[in-house]
Amino acid sequence: MHRLFISDLHLDDPSAPAFLRFHECLTHESRRVDEIYILGDLVEMWIGDDDDSVAAQQLRQILKTISAQTPVYLMHGNRDFLFGEKFANDTGVTLLGDPHMTDDGLLLSHGDMLCTDDVAYQNMRTLLRSEAWQQDILSKTLAERKAFGQSLRQQSQTNNANKPSNIMDVNDDATSALVAEHQVHILLHGHTHRPGMHQHDGFKRFVTGAWERCGWLARQIDEALWLECFSLAHRYGSETPGRVL
Ligand code: MN
Repeated sequence: MHRLFISDLHLDDPSAPAFLRFHECLTHESRRVDEIYILGDLVEMWIGDDDDSVAAQQLRQILKTISAQTPVYLMHGNRDFLFGEKFANDTGVTLLGDPHMTDDGLLLSHGDMLCTDDVAYQNMRTLLRSEAWQQDILSKTLAERKAFGQSLRQQSQTNNANKPSNIMDVNDDATSALVAEHQVHILLHGHTHRPGMHQHDGFKRFVTGAWERCGWLARQIDEALWLECFSLAHRYGSETPGRVL
């Protein structure tokens, strides 16, 4: 089994390096991997499956092409929890719940549910993920939702700038409890923008990074799992990716 895991691309501008590398990476990798997992925050903000922006249209087209070649699994992040069934139908991707366990026992999560030290964030998360709130927002016009999305982004940037960085990482107890509940030895998540591999008591935790200065992915080939990073400045596949952990 050869799998690819990515998260936190925060795609926005279709001409930006991250968007171009995303297209190249998935095109290149779909020829050789068995499954592709996108573990949340694929886009900077998703305001509904009827989004008609150029970025949304290009994203749908890319995913449709890739998923015709290789199964693509998509988990919600805190930026794109409004990806819905219509998007899945339009693109051929399969939406996953959070957490999700693979058939060989990898536990996958976006990771934000584990950041329990940030109480204000968790309260907001509960609200935004509620059926009532989502029905309300999706009943608004596309223009209203675009404006709302902008205000939410600004609010998030302001809030996060004033937070001590340790509360924006995963909480050890919450992480251990999730792993114990599912009885796994490997947890893979994103969200924190702190790529790395951590050895905990009884399990390993792999964290995929945000596509900022470089692109990050986790690659699994059978029993082996590791992180790779690559420059966003060059065409994907033009250089050997750095295996970092
Ligand atoms: Mn996130």
